Amino acid sequence: MRDYSITIIENQEKKQKPDPNQLEFGKHFTDHMFIMDYTEGTGWHDPRIVPYQPISLDPAAMIFHYGQTVFEGLKAYKTQDNRVLLFRPEKNMERLNMSNDRLCIPQIEEEFILDCLKQLISMDQDWIPSAEGTSLYIRPFIISTEPYLGVAASKTYRFMIILSPVGSYYKEGIHPVKIFVEREYVRAVAGGTGKAKTAGNYAGSLKAQEVSEKLGYSQVLWLDGIEKKYIEEVGSMNIFFKINGEVVTPALNGSILEGVTRNSVIQLLNHWGVPVTERRISIDEIYESYKKGLVEEIFGTGTAAVISPVGELNWEGEKMVINDGQTGALSKKLYHTITSIQNGNEPDPFEWTVEV
Ligand code: PMP
Repeated sequence: MRDYSITIIENQEKKQKPDPNQLEFGKHFTDHMFIMDYTEGTGWHDPRIVPYQPISLDPAAMIFHYGQTVFEGLKAYKTQDNRVLLFRPEKNMERLNMSNDRLCIPQIEEEFILDCLKQLISMDQDWIPSAEGTSLYIRPFIISTEPYLGVAASKTYRFMIILSPVGSYYKEGIHPVKIFVEREYVRAVAGGTGKAKTAGNYAGSLKAQEVSEKLGYSQVLWLDGIEKKYIEEVGSMNIFFKINGEVVTPALNGSILEGVTRNSVIQLLNHWGVPVTERRISIDEIYESYKKGLVEEIFGTGTAAVISPVGELNWEGEKMVINDGQTGALSKKLYHTITSIQNGNEPDPFEWTVEV
């Protein structure tokens, strides 16, 4: 590993912390942030932890025009004995570099960044809420900064990490969501950027999200971009189906985001001896299985909610009500097991957690 030294400038004016009972997602930010710059020829340089503050950019900075950018999302949890745990952070660093590769952004040194992240969290650890279900959301991201209007890879970048205390996703206990199967718009195509965590994928998803929200659905289920037939993933979650005793999830095909929670669920199911298969799944297959009464559970997986049971799937006006709109036993067990490991309340047989 390269020998960088991190500059630390402490915030002298600590901010007022938000009411831990009123935490909304992504609205409050801690006292410090991490910054590191990249210049072609020099590489990544000047890693620093500084007071949280606005940044200044040239209006021609390439991020504003062609969206060459990547991001990550993970969480830190406070345990009952006041330790701070990260959940599989090396997976997020690995995925960040995979996204970097797809977006022609230079690779970062994963171990070094994880080290910087730990230092940043240590400095702001008073910001981590401790009530059940709460956590510190971590947002690493890289933007292209070269002032140039040509369509090309930027020669300069800025990498930042910001931290945001977040409340419990399920304030009234785990409850199922209604999902709209999207037929008009698509999220990604084979060979596109679907596998990368990059802003454009999310900007392009807003329209469908808006339409489905008006119809009373919380997120959309994306179908493949070519035949509009095969199931891909939900807005910010991967998706699993329990059909006739077997769990299936769409195989990673290049257009689906490789969720850390998805990977953890598959490992857990294997460990429990529950049959789980990654394969192509058509929406017709789900509908036929539903008609035969074989669809036992559907759930989404992602960092925000961990497990999100699906109570209704609307496909072209057909409302498939799953498990009477209730949370299924497997969804509950997965939710309980993963959150208990994240919070340090249960043994961690896979060594998923990393202490800060
Ligand atoms: N798919 C998409 C499009 C997402 O944005 C996310 C959230 N990162 C996921 C799936 C779930 O990934 P993870 O389990 O790593 O949060």
